[in-house]
Order: sequence, then C-alpha cells, then structure tokens
Amino acid sequence: NINNTLDPNNPAVAEQKKKKKSGGGAFEAFNLSSFLYKAIKQKGYNLPTPIQRKAIPVILEGFNVIAMARTGSGKTGAFVIPLIEKLKTHSKIVGARCLILSPTREIAMQTANYFKSLAKLTDLTFALIVGGSDMENQFERLLLNPDVIIATPGRLMHCMMETGLSLSTVELVVYDECDRLFELGFAEQIKQITDKMPKNRQSLLFSATISSQVKDFALSGIKDYRMLQVDKDS
Ligand code: ADP
Ligand code: MG
Repeated sequence: NINNTLDPNNPAVAEQKKKKKSGGGAFEAFNLSSFLYKAIKQKGYNLPTPIQRKAIPVILEGFNVIAMARTGSGKTGAFVIPLIEKLKTHSKIVGARCLILSPTREIAMQTANYFKSLAKLTDLTFALIVGGSDMENQFERLLLNPDVIIATPGRLMHCMMETGLSLSTVELVVYDECDRLFELGFAEQIKQITDKMPKNRQSLLFSATISSQVKDFALSGIKDYRMLQVDKDS
C-alpha cells in the first residue's frame, strides 16, 4: 500500500528513518574499532550480509551461537569480524585465544587469507595447521604463540600429540561448515578437541545445513546458545 509506506506515522517508516540516522543496517552499527572498518571498506564491503547483521552483535556480546545460512552468504565474515574485534591486539603471554576448525585444507586456507585481509591493520598472528603441508613449518608457527589457530581436525590432533600443543587458553572456538566437518567423518576428533578446551569458552557453530549430527553435537557440546537462521534466499 503506497499511502501506508509514505505515511510518516507508519511505524515501519519511522523505524527505517531511525535506522538511517543511526547507521542501522550498516557495518557502522556494530561499534567496531576504526581499524576494522578500514579493513572492511578496503575489502570492498559496503553493507553486512543478513547473517553478518544477525551474528556480529550477538557474538560481540559473548553469546554462544549456532548460525545457519546458505553457502555464499558471508558466514566467514560473520565470525572473523567479531573475533578480530574481540582479540584486538597480539598477546605474547597467553597461548592461542581462538581456534577455527575447518573441514578441509582449502576452506582453512581461505579462512586464513580472509583473516589476514581483515586483521592487516593489527599485529594479530595466526597459525595454519592443515594436512598436505610441511609439518615442521607448522610446528614452528605454533612456537610463535599465534593468537588464532586455523586448523583441520586431523592435523590439529596430530600436532597436539606430537608437540603437546595445549588448547587450555582458547576463549573462542569456531566450528566452521559444521555439516561438512561431520560428513567428512571428524566427529571423534571434534569431540576430543572440544574436551581439551576450557569449559567457559565461547562456542560458535556455522553451517549451511543443520543435519541430525550437527543438532546432536550442538545439544551436547554447546551450552545456552542463540540460534540464528536466515532465509534460504538471503
Ligand atoms: P559462506 O561461508 O557463507 O559460504 P563466504 O564467507 O565464503 O560464504 O563468503 C562468500 C563471498 O561473499 C566471499 O567472496 C566474500 O568475500 C563475500 N562477502 C562476504 N561478506 C560480504 C559483504 N558484507 N559484502 C560483500 N561481499 C561479501
Ligand atoms: Mg564458509
């Protein structure tokens, strides 16, 4: 109804005006640090995607999250942006404060590049722990006390056994593309890795679909979570 949409007394119109004024619906609405806005703009992003709009504020507030959105909906940014905001700067004292579990080497490498591009104005460091690459190099990277570990479950377990790598400093864990983690048979490794992290960590689960395995894992492994979902076509 055209009259309705133009009516300034219509609550929807008033809401839209308010949003525009406060920068609502834009990255600016998240109250991020200016270095992060700069990196986001340099990446060419003008507006957050629907899953980013839903997930970023809830993650910044510290909630556990289960987020479901289709492939290509921008899920990587939905967790990388708030995690960079939370970590802010390199910590020499503490071990890795964030762990990102990826189902494949390719996805882990993409996530690492994504992290690099958005964290480029910070001194945050990461280690990429994936199969098929030089293990010695990866061990050396771990000795440099990275803030973030981006890993596939098999190689991470291997590292933990070989080097005694501890996950006791992890404050935030991301199970990325969780449906695929289970499809690829990582259920046992995920359980073992999860058991090695502190109980009061923040857990984020991102998936294109919520299979029964993902649901079971969420119910048993993630406490008091917020369920976020965007429509199939957004
Ligand atoms: P998903 O993990 O949901 O499959 P990705 O995180 O891989 O999706 O993102 C898909 C594509 O969308 C990537 O090329 C990414 O750079 C791009 N993208 C993510 N967020 C935005 C945004 N806010 N604006 C424009 N492009 C974006
Ligand atoms: Mg993804």
